[in-house]
Amino acid sequence: MSYLDLNLSLTEEDIQLREAAHKFAKEVMRPIARELDLMSPEEALAEDSPLWEFMRKAYELGYHKIIMPEEVGGLGATPLQAHIVFEELGWGSFGLAVLLAVAFLPFYGLLLSGNQELIEKFTVPFCACDDGSIRGCWAITEPDHGSDAFGHGEEFFESPSMRANVQAQLEGDEWVINGQKAAWVSGACTATHVMMHPQIDQSRGMAGFGICIVPLDLEGVTKGKPLKKVGQRDLNQGELFFDNVRIPKEYMFIEPEAYHPGAFDRILAATKICMSIWSTGLARAAYDEALEYAKERVQGGKPLIEHYAMRERIFNMFARVETCRALSRAVTNFNLSVPTPFSEYSAVAKTICTQKCFENAHEAVQILGGNGLTEEYLTEKLFRDARATLIEDGNNEVLAREGGFILSETYPRSISMG
Ligand SMILES: Cc1cc2nc3c(=O)[nH]c(=O)nc-3n(C[C@H](O)[C@H](O)[C@H](O)COP(=O)(O)OP(=O)(O)OC[C@H]3O[C@@H](n4cnc5c(N)ncnc54)[C@H](O)[C@@H]3O)c2cc1C
Repeated sequence: MSYLDLNLSLTEEDIQLREAAHKFAKEVMRPIARELDLMSPEEALAEDSPLWEFMRKAYELGYHKIIMPEEVGGLGATPLQAHIVFEELGWGSFGLAVLLAVAFLPFYGLLLSGNQELIEKFTVPFCACDDGSIRGCWAITEPDHGSDAFGHGEEFFESPSMRANVQAQLEGDEWVINGQKAAWVSGACTATHVMMHPQIDQSRGMAGFGICIVPLDLEGVTKGKPLKKVGQRDLNQGELFFDNVRIPKEYMFIEPEAYHPGAFDRILAATKICMSIWSTGLARAAYDEALEYAKERVQGGKPLIEHYAMRERIFNMFARVETCRALSRAVTNFNLSVPTPFSEYSAVAKTICTQKCFENAHEAVQILGGNGLTEEYLTEKLFRDARATLIEDGNNEVLAREGGFILSETYPRSISMG
């Protein structure tokens, strides 16, 4: 693999990281993702599933802690390095890239708490884990609240009429949690811990949430059946049920005062950035497949690529990849470097990059003709995986509500770089 990177200041370390991540994506992720994709959700979770080999190898290489700071045992990658690696992982498999990210999200989220005891108890052992045995997931979506949970800026968000499915009540030194998170929780079936958003103060509506860490072996926690779905089938998803689950008070590391604006916005800004980067990788994977096929397939007496109309289509695919990379990288560098991320930019990156990645996946199928629809070629999987990105981490049209910032008194926004 080699492609021109429009950055003349990449260091030798950056380039090595990219090469190593690409090798992992090609040799480990691609074949395992395809196997998982063709299995039933239950088979994909069985003891002899190749899923476990993926987790073990990813952890061995430290990809679960790449963005964790060195002080807690992470690799301390720069935002640019995180972008470089995540793009390769997205190229390898969008679903497995998500699985790996949700595995670290609770332990990364705990860094927001500033609570050293919790960081020592959970984050440090997670970073030290090199066999994939500690795995997180992130549960915000509920059966009755999908887009609602992402609706900050909308009137309903702070309405006391919004009652969440998962409630937490303080009893002495413990929080008692009851309710259900939706079947969409990525990695729930394989997770050992969840970073969970329960409602604490209904008088504040969806802004009355907290964020806590819950070890999933606690009494009262049960998991639903793995979800069967069209795309990202290599990513397991399932419900989480909480029946009088008790956690120590300090495990609720964010309470409503610091939720929104605050930790909620920072988490969403980060997850959307990841979505935009993996989409860049998937858009590139689709481009690669289409280009290779167009060079081989002969119609009209010459390879497809030699037809002007085809060259224009391939050029447009290439342009989408470059657009995705430029936008996602700019937002990653910016939003992971400033104290308070500008969430509208993360939303722009997520919506544009997922849309362009879907367009590329769609066009790749079309360029391969009938072959593009068959399991013999990667394009049909890329197409299904890309379709899910338009909904995942917030429906794109709903995220466009971030456009509400234009009405705010603080627009145009500015930042003091100190
Ligand atoms: C692959 C995948 C991975 C995911 N991973 C996770 C995860 O790890 N953790 C987690 O908690 N969740 C996860 N989700 C859930 C995801 O965040 C939700 O699916 C998403 O927010 C949309 O919610 P919903 O599916 O309930 O759709 P709904 O919110 O019910 O939306 C249905 C339709 O109504 C529209 N709509 C909704 N609200 C409004 C409104 N106010 N005004 C106008 N139109 C509206 C939407 O645009 C959409 O077209 C994942 C989803 C997918 C697909």
